[in-house]
Amino acid sequence: MGAATGKRGRPPRYLLSSIAVCGVCGARTRVGSQNASSQSAQGKELPHRYRVYECAGSPGATGFHVSIRQEYLDEIVTDAVLARVADMDFQTPRALAEDEDGTERRALRLEIKADYIWLEKVHEAAEQRAQPELLEAQEKIVFPKIEAALDRIDILENLDPLVRRLRRAQSALSIWTSMSVGQQRHVVSTLVIPRIDPVGADARGQRGPNADRVKLIWRTHAE
Ligand SMILES: [Zn+2]
Repeated sequence: MGAATGKRGRPPRYLLSSIAVCGVCGARTRVGSQNASSQSAQGKELPHRYRVYECAGSPGATGFHVSIRQEYLDEIVTDAVLARVADMDFQTPRALAEDEDGTERRALRLEIKADYIWLEKVHEAAEQRAQPELLEAQEKIVFPKIEAALDRIDILENLDPLVRRLRRAQSALSIWTSMSVGQQRHVVSTLVIPRIDPVGADARGQRGPNADRVKLIWRTHAE
């Protein structure tokens, strides 16, 4: 069963069930629910339930070491993944042997940088002469060259197509929100293992997402 499909082939409903792991025993997590109550404006107790990711334990061992509110962990991990793919130094999980030391990719990145510096110069000249068409003409030539260099870098990095779409997007968030939960799960599990640690004594009773409890174990280049 891959991370992209749920039980009996149903589309998965939650981002991190069985992807996030327990920080105590290393078991995968499942979705459970917890009871809570809050005070209404009239001082009445209002019972409600909320979903959590919780340690599922392993055969012969007790589980329930940790649990964390589902929406909080989703938010923490989503923010981290989107920041990760936007990072200029982002290293993709795999690289092809043909450019193992990254020489070609470094050369391509220098070319792209030089192209942008050239366009900046043309931009200045075009403004001085009040001839915007100078810049437009150069952009028509240089942009496809930059695009081709970026495509080549992606091929060399053997980048996962979904991760690649996120990385190249103007707004990674809008691409992310357009993905199915199954696709989002694929992206997360390609990049990171979220580990949930127990609540520290000092943070008990604290409300809201507690990012300190979540250790993000990023998959590295070498895998
Ligand atoms: Zn556990």
